[in-house]
Amino acid sequence: MDVHTANPSTCLETRRLFRPFCAHQMPADAAARLRSHLDACPGCWSAWNAYRWHRALDTDLGRALRDFLGEDFVPFHDSSKALAAAWDAAAPTTPRQRADFFRASTDYLYNSTIWTASGNRPPYLAQALPVLRRLRAAGVIDYGCGIGADTLSLLHAGFTVLACDYSSPSTDFLHWRAARDDVHVRTVEPGRLVPPHGADTLWIIDTLDHLPEPHTALGEVLAAVRIVITENLHHGRGHGNQRFHHRMTPDALCAFFATYGFQAQPTIPATRHLTVWLRAGHDAEQVSWSAKAASSAAASELRARALRPARTARVPGRSPGSPGHETSTAFPTVAEKKRD
Ligand SMILES: [Zn+2]
Repeated sequence: MDVHTANPSTCLETRRLFRPFCAHQMPADAAARLRSHLDACPGCWSAWNAYRWHRALDTDLGRALRDFLGEDFVPFHDSSKALAAAWDAAAPTTPRQRADFFRASTDYLYNSTIWTASGNRPPYLAQALPVLRRLRAAGVIDYGCGIGADTLSLLHAGFTVLACDYSSPSTDFLHWRAARDDVHVRTVEPGRLVPPHGADTLWIIDTLDHLPEPHTALGEVLAAVRIVITENLHHGRGHGNQRFHHRMTPDALCAFFATYGFQAQPTIPATRHLTVWLRAGHDAEQVSWSAKAASSAAASELRARALRPARTARVPGRSPGSPGHETSTAFPTVAEKKRD
């Protein structure tokens, strides 16, 4: 199948394109048409759900989910639809209600696991590891760690990692897998995160759209680290139609990170699913990164499209959270909550 000439607006073509769609091998416009068809066609949506499950069930992660949930495990659970329906039914309005929704959500555990185990999640870590090593990163905060697939991989790769997310079925699964692998994992809830000494990298993948107040959530962390890794803000950020997302445009996110002195680095083919942000003033790292990017054959074209945020390097003071906001800036002095 030629993904460039296929027409993903019919049911047959849509289903024949599941493999390249799942692996992010389709041109953006064709992938967008396929996504539109999935959103509108219940039959193809069910087929897509089944396709991802079939890919996921025979992986270590898929088997781990089955073992973790035991007799509660529901094969072929359509967690995307269930998650959206649960959110609409709960209709949380306050920060505490939002947090409690995620703390209780087993649908989110399924959703994250299937997304990762099916191979539908881009290979963020494989693309980032050479970058992190070149930048001499050592201490990573995995913000919005969820099931902790990246947390565990970063630990296995030798990094010190503090994982941050609401205590939930997803983080229970992370701790269960870590214990099974005899790995010690530290997790902390977002409202209790204090950047630990030595943290140099904020790893925040597919989480920015979950932050109603990004300055409140990330201000302390962004003042402490020198490297930020996000998903590629210009490439396939759509991941479902759940109404809990607060989408910021790429320009708004550039302005947000620039407030803390961070500039997006040129995307190169080897890191096409990522945006790497470096704090202005860390010249050695910037030069090292730029030299590497310039050595790429595609660098000149990509550099022309590079993000150009404002050059401000001001770190703002803490902004007061809304009344009753439990993830306010009142961080405790104890950074970690060791789970058991
Ligand atoms: Zn269809």
